[in-house]
Amino acid sequence: MNGFNVAIDGPAGAGKSTVAKKAAERLGFLYIDTGAMYRALTYAALTERIDLNDEHALTALLEGSALELEPSSTGTTVYWNEKNITADIRTDLVNKNVSLVSSHKEVRLAMVARQQALAKAKKAVLDGRDIGTHVLPDANVKIFLTASVEERARRRHQEQLDKGLPSDFEKLKEDIAKRDELDSTRLFAPLMQAEDAQVVDTTEMGIEEVINTILHLVKEQSV
Ligand code: C5P
Repeated sequence: MNGFNVAIDGPAGAGKSTVAKKAAERLGFLYIDTGAMYRALTYAALTERIDLNDEHALTALLEGSALELEPSSTGTTVYWNEKNITADIRTDLVNKNVSLVSSHKEVRLAMVARQQALAKAKKAVLDGRDIGTHVLPDANVKIFLTASVEERARRRHQEQLDKGLPSDFEKLKEDIAKRDELDSTRLFAPLMQAEDAQVVDTTEMGIEEVINTILHLVKEQSV
């Protein structure tokens, strides 16, 4: 056996990247943050003033650029044409526009091909919205990580405050709910729980507990 893939899908702010990264580390697996890929394209398109409704232009931008993900101690370092854009892809502006960019079929097909190539024959944990349903329908383990909107907004709010940044809880809640709605209602490969995914509701769970649950599900499949 050469490859073993773990798919972690779920709505915005459910803690996917934090737990996927840590679970991958403990398993000795590669971690692939697919959301960072859509964010990188969104940031580049905004910078280059490309119409975010123009899927051909967006796909051409992606195909003509070098997008690299590099694992780092804090998550993933993202390079666009060799420029480090890790912080730039987490802004409010990118949050607001990424669902539109990722709603285009042509963009998604190009991204999915890259994600499949990255995961192929590897031991990897991928997190996103359509990993278990579309990118890796044969993933060995599929997890749907979720939490109430209230709790997801509360976590984001705390994160911002911890960083010393201003934060408006009600606004965060609204933004998260809006992104969930856009991601779940898009026509092509929407955010959806795979039929064979295990649901992990983290509303009342701590990070360690979530990671251990994931590790347990992986171990169950590897024996
Ligand atoms: O996971 P993250 O919040 O960074 O994802 C940002 C956005 O990228 C999502 O809101 C969604 O629009 C898009 N996305 C996607 N499919 C994925 C991963 C992310 O459509 N597999």
